Amino acid sequence: MKYEIKAVDNRAKSATMETVHGTVETPLFMNVGTVAAIKGAVSTDDLKEIGCQVELSNTYHLHVRTGDKLIKEFGGLHEFMHWDRPILTDSGGFQVFSLAKLRKIKEEGVAFNSHIDGRKIFMGPEESMQIQSNLGSTIAMAFDECPPALAERKYIEESVARTTRWLQRCKVEMDRLNSLEDTINKEQLLFGINQGGIIDDIRISHAKAISEMNLDGYAIGGLAVGESHEEMYHILDVTVEHLPKDKPTYLMGVGTPINILEAVDRGVDFFDCVYPSRNGRHGHVYTNCGKLNLFNKKYELDKRPIEEGCNCPACRSYSRGYIRHLLKANEMLGMRLCVLHNLYFYNTMMSEIRTAIRENRYTEYKNNKIRTMLEGSK
Ligand SMILES: [Zn+2]
Repeated sequence: MKYEIKAVDNRAKSATMETVHGTVETPLFMNVGTVAAIKGAVSTDDLKEIGCQVELSNTYHLHVRTGDKLIKEFGGLHEFMHWDRPILTDSGGFQVFSLAKLRKIKEEGVAFNSHIDGRKIFMGPEESMQIQSNLGSTIAMAFDECPPALAERKYIEESVARTTRWLQRCKVEMDRLNSLEDTINKEQLLFGINQGGIIDDIRISHAKAISEMNLDGYAIGGLAVGESHEEMYHILDVTVEHLPKDKPTYLMGVGTPINILEAVDRGVDFFDCVYPSRNGRHGHVYTNCGKLNLFNKKYELDKRPIEEGCNCPACRSYSRGYIRHLLKANEMLGMRLCVLHNLYFYNTMMSEIRTAIRENRYTEYKNNKIRTMLEGSK
């Protein structure tokens, strides 16, 4: 892996990252395909057309349904879902703690019941790395605990200390798996995850501790889980500067276009979020003048595309009025067109962000973009 910073504009950075599955440019948005499918009937061929650089799938979901061993039989996720660009797999930690039932945390890992069929499963750092190795993703995420943002200090301290010990075990196991004969991607990368709720000194000391472990990239987890936007930006202000600048910085699960613009300004260059596909499935579409709800009656006779000048497959051919009709008639095409537009909007915004950083005018770009989005949604 080669990560090379191409431009810096205040704290914002733009880089290229070379991987065994091709080179990507940051800042970038990873398009979320939790169960190896982008919700809204979007295929991996569609992803190429809308400018997606990295696809993201989930360890927990693929392990409990269909199974990573079966996917390994297909030659890994890339072959299975027909995608030849980078894939990042989330470790399953967040889902074990948010979805699974009856979980019990021990030093070794977490015992829990599958949310699909109640089956008993055990997942620790080694199991998570083994599953991600079977999936053969480009980037594997460390197995961590995401403590509730508002948990007590003592709980967060103990949880973060365990997450650090788990990270060391992830690294040892990843090195072992990458050296095995039948491993699909022997150059699988490992990103560590910073935790610490919204407590500054825990975030900082954890960032320093994991920075010493020479990982391929560093994520900030446990945000956008109920804290305010100001609290999230504050945690980025105090934490990002303690993570290695010469490695990718990934803010997990964030966020709205404005959240992304603010986080880029604080040095983050990898993002993922379910908002564009989830909102699209409900007829909510992003534009440079704010979000529209296509179910609204005022779009009934609207012959304009979702956004004038947008080059996505929905806007190139269809009107707001037609897409509204599809949504009202519960036709899957309505959902699909909205999701395609929203993902295209996010990917295009990332491309504009990269250009603005490289032209040293990021602050101006960000302020204009936020102003027009806020004014339009009034
Ligand atoms: Zn469009």
